[in-house]
Parts: sequence; C-alpha cells; structure tokens
Amino acid sequence: MKISAYAAERPKASLTPFEYEAKMLGSWEVRIRVTHCGICHSDIHLIDDDWGISSYPLVAGHEIIGTIDQIDANVKHLKPGVRVGVGWQAASCMECEWCSKGEEHLCSGSRSVIKGHGGFGNWVAADSRFVFPIPESIDSEHAAPLLCGGITVYSPLRHHGIAPSMKVGIIGIGGLGHLALQYARALGAEVFAFSTQADKERETKAFGAHQFVLSTNSRQMTKLERSIDFLLSTASGNVDWEQFMGLLRPHGRLCVVGASPGKIQVPPFALIGDEKAILGSVIGNPAMIREMLEFSARHGIRPKTELVSIDHINSAVERVRASRARYRIVLKH
Ligand code: NAP
Ligand code: ZN
Repeated sequence: MKISAYAAERPKASLTPFEYEAKMLGSWEVRIRVTHCGICHSDIHLIDDDWGISSYPLVAGHEIIGTIDQIDANVKHLKPGVRVGVGWQAASCMECEWCSKGEEHLCSGSRSVIKGHGGFGNWVAADSRFVFPIPESIDSEHAAPLLCGGITVYSPLRHHGIAPSMKVGIIGIGGLGHLALQYARALGAEVFAFSTQADKERETKAFGAHQFVLSTNSRQMTKLERSIDFLLSTASGNVDWEQFMGLLRPHGRLCVVGASPGKIQVPPFALIGDEKAILGSVIGNPAMIREMLEFSARHGIRPKTELVSIDHINSAVERVRASRARYRIVLKH
C-alpha cells in the first residue's frame, strides 16, 4: 500500500510530495487513515533541524486525528471505524521502570510518530496504547491540536498541582500558550499572559487570562516582581530567563516546555534566595492524555484554529515558522 505525504528532503527545505510503501503492522499496532493534522512548532524545529536530530526525507506531523482502518490481532480495545487521535509518542518499550509506573512518555525506548513518517501523510501506524478515542463533543479540527499542544501544557499544570489560590503565568501565546491559558483558568488559577505581541491582548483575555503583560515592557514586568507562583514557558524562541525568575514568589517554579534553541542561563542567586526552581516537562503520559481529552470536553476547552487544505502545506508551515499562526493551523487531508 502506497502512502502519499509531504516531506522535507533537507533542512529548511519546502515540503514536496513524497510517496512511500506502508510497513506491515507490528504487534499492538493500528493503522489510521488521517483526516486532520495540526502543525506544532516542533514540526518546524524538526524540518529545520534546529535540534540536530532530524533525518531526511522527513514527514512531520504529530497532532493527528483519523479513523482506524486496520488493527493487529492483539488489539481488543479499538475497532475499525473508531475516530482516534495520536500525538508525538507512537510507542514505548512497555517493560522499563518508567513504562511500568505509567510514565511511558519518559521511556528511553519511546518512539515518535514522525520516526515512521507522521501525519503530513494520509496514513500513520502507531501502537494502540498511544491511540486515543476522541470525545464526541470535540470535532476533529479542534481535537487535533490537543494531542500535542494540549497535553504538553495540561500535564505540567496538573502534575505541579495548580490550585485556585495560585497565580500562574504563561510565557508565549501561540499554539501551546493559548491552550495553557484556558487550562490554567479552568483549574481556577489567577492567570497572566506574557506575550511579545501587544495585539494579542484582547484574545488572551478571551482565552482566560485575567491580566495581559507585554513582556518587552520593563515597567509592566517590574510591577509583577515576586508575585507569580508558577510560570510555564511555551516560547519557541529565547526569552529573558533571569527577568522571568524575578517574577516568581518564594518556592516559585519556572517550567519550560518551549524548546527554544538557546541556553537557559541564570545566576545561582536567581534560585537560591527564594528557593526557586527551573524544571522541564515533555508531552504527557497516556493516562494524562485521556484525562486531558475528558477535561477539554467537559470544560469546553478548544484551540482557535485555521483549517487549511494539505495542498497549501508550504504556506501554512511558513506562517508557523514565522510565529504568525493564530493560534493553530490544522491541515485537512
Ligand atoms: P507557536 O504556535 O509558534 O508559538 C510560540 C510562541 O512563542 C509565539 O507565538 C510567541 O508568542 C513566542 N515566541 C516565538 N519566538 C519568540 C522569541 N524569539 N522570543 C520570545 N517569544 C517567542 O509554537 P507552539 O507550537 O506553541 O510550540 C512552542 C514551543 O513548544 C516550541 O519550541 C515547540 O517545539 C515546543 N513544544 C514542546 C513540547 C514538549 O513536550 N516539551 C511539545 C510541543 C511543543 P508571543 O507572540 O505571545 O510572544
Ligand atoms: Zn508538538
């Protein structure tokens, strides 16, 4: 069976039509006919080889919604015809310490869906334990971005116990950031949106921010010194880390999910005096993904999307590369 996709043949190249032969399904795998795929900034980092790990031809796309078509005989909990989603992770070893603790996303044998060619193609295969039925109330265009963007911000907010008494700041209001505002608000926190773009103020408030802060305005930033409990950085570029550390209250935490290419450098006293911490977070485990989908359905959390035909993939990729998507572009196959 031939799969039609769009691939990058080398770093930063335009995507060109690319066909490849489908592999036989492995144990526990299902094959999905892709209908929708979001464009995450990680797809751009991979196409451009920003992280130095890309191999070409590269078929990106890891916010996938589609319908199950084929299943391996081991799979009992999914059936052909079911509408499902797949995110970044398509498999793990299922045997190590982390897999047995339900933290499969930390498995060193984790495989990304892009390794076997991702959702910029019209079919993907994945281990059924990383394939999630989509709640009926969420349509496919809005479900796609939840599979990576949604879980990547939901997981740290839940894991770090965001509570109604807390002040939470979201740094960078793009695909991930605009979902983070909605989750933090639904969890009851007082929510601050930190953006470099003044014209995002009105929309950030509609997403749930109580306050908009122009992060390039030092007066607005200084006013918030020592006031925030938890900062979540989704910025795809470098920010002034030391300045943001100054906004945290004692015991405050800066959690980084945005994979900006530079280094995070702060002097030791940015951490010592008020016992602050910098930490990271990566996607989320399968149980958390199921919870995130339920939570999104119940609280009406939806990305603001632009639906684009896959034929226009190059102009869409270009807009995400330039951080001009408002707020997630979803490709329709
Ligand atoms: P996006 O939609 O392009 O949004 C990124 C936002 O970052 C922009 O809207 C902008 O927000 C801000 N930004 C961009 N360049 C900046 C710069 N030079 N300085 C400061 N801020 C800048 O990207 P996304 O899809 O949300 O992804 C965000 C990041 O998360 C990417 O690096 C991606 O690879 C990473 N990611 C990580 C994980 C994980 O598991 N940890 C999962 C998914 C994605 P403002 O305009 O509001 O300033
Ligand atoms: Zn992603």
